[in-house]
Amino acid sequence: MSKKVLVIGEARDNKLRNVTFEAIAAAKSVSQGGEVIGVICHYQDATELAKEMIFYGADRVQMIENENMKTYTSDVFAQAILQTVEEESPEAIIMGHSSIGKDLTPKLASKLDSGLISDVVEIDYNGENVIFTRPIYSGKAFEKKIITNGIMFATIRPNNISPLERDTSRSGEISKREVELSDLRTVIKEVIRKTKEGIDLSEAKVIIAGGRGVKSKEGFEPLYKLAEVLGGAVGASRGACDADYCDYSLQIGQTGKVVTPDLYIACGISGAIQHLAGMSNSKVIVAINKDPEANIFQIADYGIVGDLFDVIPILIEEIERVKV
Ligand code: FAD
Repeated sequence: MSKKVLVIGEARDNKLRNVTFEAIAAAKSVSQGGEVIGVICHYQDATELAKEMIFYGADRVQMIENENMKTYTSDVFAQAILQTVEEESPEAIIMGHSSIGKDLTPKLASKLDSGLISDVVEIDYNGENVIFTRPIYSGKAFEKKIITNGIMFATIRPNNISPLERDTSRSGEISKREVELSDLRTVIKEVIRKTKEGIDLSEAKVIIAGGRGVKSKEGFEPLYKLAEVLGGAVGASRGACDADYCDYSLQIGQTGKVVTPDLYIACGISGAIQHLAGMSNSKVIVAINKDPEANIFQIADYGIVGDLFDVIPILIEEIERVKV
C-alpha cells in the first residue's frame, strides 16, 4: 500500500547535505508509489534548497524559515517539525543518521510516541511490509526490522542508499510555513569549528585515516595532502586522538564516527577491534603499516607494508601523474 513519507532535509553552509538526497531515495522505497514530502528548516530563504530536494525526487517541499534556525538546536527544530508532522500526518518519516539526525529523531519519536529504527543501511519491500536492515554488534551482524503499527520512523546511514539521479525537469509545489516557537531554552552563542573546512567525514567517499603511527600533529600533513588529491576527508584512530595528534572529532570507531566510504586508507593504524567497528563496512580498504602482522591487514583489500612517510608521497605523486 502506498504511503505518505516525510523527509527531514539537512543543510549546512546553505547547501543540502548529500544524506538528504539519500533519505529521499529511501523515502521513495518506503512510500511504494506514495507521496514524498520534503521539509527543510532554514534561517533564510530556502527556495533553492527546496528545488534541489525536488530535483532528487521529492514530490513537494515545505520550507520552514526562522531566524532561530541558523544553528541547529533540538528545541527549535523539534518544535518546527512536530508542527509539520501534525499538519501532514505522514505514515513514515526518514532522516539521515547524521549528528543532527541522531540528536533530533529520538526526541521527535518520543513526542510522537512512535518507534525509531536508526542507522538503516538497506530498505526492501516484501509485498506486504517495508523491511529495514541495520547493523548490530558493531557491524558484525545485521538485523531486519519491520514496523507494524504507528509511524515508520527511520534514520539512514550516509553512503549506503544511492540517491536518485538529479533531474532538473522535475517540478513540485514548494510552500512556506510559519512556525510558532515557544519556551526556547537553548541559545547558541558561538560555534567553534575544530576541524579543517571541507568534506564531512561521515559523508566522505574517500577517507584517509591516521593512527598512532603518524607520530605527531605535523605527521598528519601528508594525509591531508593525499585527501586533497583524492577529494576526501581525514579521519583518525583513537590512538592518534589520545596522543593529541588531532582532534577527537576525527575519531572513527566504536566510540567515534561510523563511516562507509568507497575508499578507506588506514595509515599507521593497527586495526584494533574498536577501530574496525567504525570502518569495516567501507567498500575498499587499503592499509599502510610497517608491521606485516598488523591486524588491519586481516580486513584490508589492499595492504602496503612500509613506512607511511615513504609510501604516502609516492601515492600522491602517482595519483597526480595519472590524474593529468
Ligand atoms: P596502535 O595500536 O599503537 O597502532 C599504531 C600502528 O602504527 C602499529 O600497527 C604500527 O605498526 C604502525 N606504525 C607505526 N609507525 C608507522 C609508520 N611510520 N608507518 C606505518 N605504520 C606505522 N579506537 C579507535 O580507533 N576508535 C574507537 O572508537 C575506539 N573506541 C574504543 C573504546 C573502548 C571502550 C576501548 C577500550 C578502546 C577503544 N579504542 C578505539 C582504542 C583501541 O583499542 C586502540 O587502542 C586504538 O584503536 C589504537 O590506535 P592505533 O591503531 O592508532 O595505535
